[in-house]
Amino acid sequence: MELYNLKHPAQRVSFTEALKLGLGMDRGLFFPSYIPRLQNVDDLLALPFVERSKRVLGAWLASELGQETVDALVEKAFNFPLSLVPVDEKRSSLELFHGPTLAFKDFGARFMAQCLNTLGGKAPLTILTATSGDTGAAVADAFYGLDNVRVMVLYPKGKISELQEKMFTTLGNNIHTVAVASDFDACQALVKQAFEDHDIRDGLRLNSANSINISRLLAQICYYFEAVARYRQQHQDAPVIAVPSGNFGNLTAGLLAKAMGLPVKRFIAATNSNDTVPRYLAFGDWAPKQTIATMSNAMDVAEPSNWPRVEAIFKEMKWPLTELTGVAISESQTHQSLLELHGLGYQAEPHAAIAARALAVCLTENERGIFLATAHPAKFKDVVDRELGTSLALPPALEHVKEKEVLSVTLAADFAALKAHMLSVLG
Ligand SMILES: *Cc1c(COP(=O)(O)O)cnc(C)c1O
Repeated sequence: MELYNLKHPAQRVSFTEALKLGLGMDRGLFFPSYIPRLQNVDDLLALPFVERSKRVLGAWLASELGQETVDALVEKAFNFPLSLVPVDEKRSSLELFHGPTLAFKDFGARFMAQCLNTLGGKAPLTILTATSGDTGAAVADAFYGLDNVRVMVLYPKGKISELQEKMFTTLGNNIHTVAVASDFDACQALVKQAFEDHDIRDGLRLNSANSINISRLLAQICYYFEAVARYRQQHQDAPVIAVPSGNFGNLTAGLLAKAMGLPVKRFIAATNSNDTVPRYLAFGDWAPKQTIATMSNAMDVAEPSNWPRVEAIFKEMKWPLTELTGVAISESQTHQSLLELHGLGYQAEPHAAIAARALAVCLTENERGIFLATAHPAKFKDVVDRELGTSLALPPALEHVKEKEVLSVTLAADFAALKAHMLSVLG
């Protein structure tokens, strides 16, 4: 597989290089030089999830890694179920939260961990990542206990739920966590700065596990195939798919699936009040505002880092950008959507509720669709219980971290402080 840097197209790298580098020169994103088109998609859709995923990822990676290596990576990474649950006559929920940390990020993080474990080389690597919630847990869990990888996770102090925090800050061992006294965009900015610092980048063999890493995006392509495979058992048409979006990695993966030949009618990019993309699609101005804190905090992102890849796919495929629908869902609409879904007998959390509402708003009379349920409702128990007056039981994965101690250090959003901390802890 060959990828190029969207900012400096002359920089070309293999998958293994892109996996280890994360970002290219000038923080440019890596993008595939070529998008493979699959033949016989209907036959592929008939296969079980893991078998099909080997073929889907093989189309990208077998030429570089060999199909056997791809098969082994897929088998180790995708060892948990997913499901498509009908919610009403028009909408089904693709539940992506049945993995070890109860969020869809387990797919990408586990695949990336397996890739680095297999392809990373002998010297220890440092994973540095910023999280607005679920990435931290998924990455920490996926890498926990691996010999040759240390992880440092930055997150905005006080801006994620206590349970979310406990899922990745209580592990210890090779997992180091930093609460940054600011917002998620500041955490992301610090991570970007660290990648430009030679002492850190080269000295600690830095790697990012954010959704900018191409391995995570490739892994996420697979569940779109599963969604359509299950949908096709009931319906002839191609579904509309609504994606609850923050950094837009999830949507990027969906678009890549469609570009490979998956029958998807169109995508809806659903955001919360951090509506940079819906405003851009409507008015043509890229005008990020200050990040706003919402109930769907994993989507509190004003400057989505994967957006250049979204545009690159539309350009490569010669699809007009008007085919992408952007919808921003307010806090009160999120609340109504949670209530409505609850009334339909479906327990959601704010991120899924946003996608469900965006889908309902956008479907035309003859369309049906799928919304992505990206987190287990219990992961957002505080919000869900408050909004619905429920008292959700915690699944075992959450119950056992509740009493554990948070091991994070707190730092100001200051690069010098972070650098000193990293070199002393990891150097
Ligand atoms: C990360 C996350 C999202 C946003 O996904 P992106 O790929 O960043 O757009 C949505 N929902 C949940 C629960 C998440 O953790």
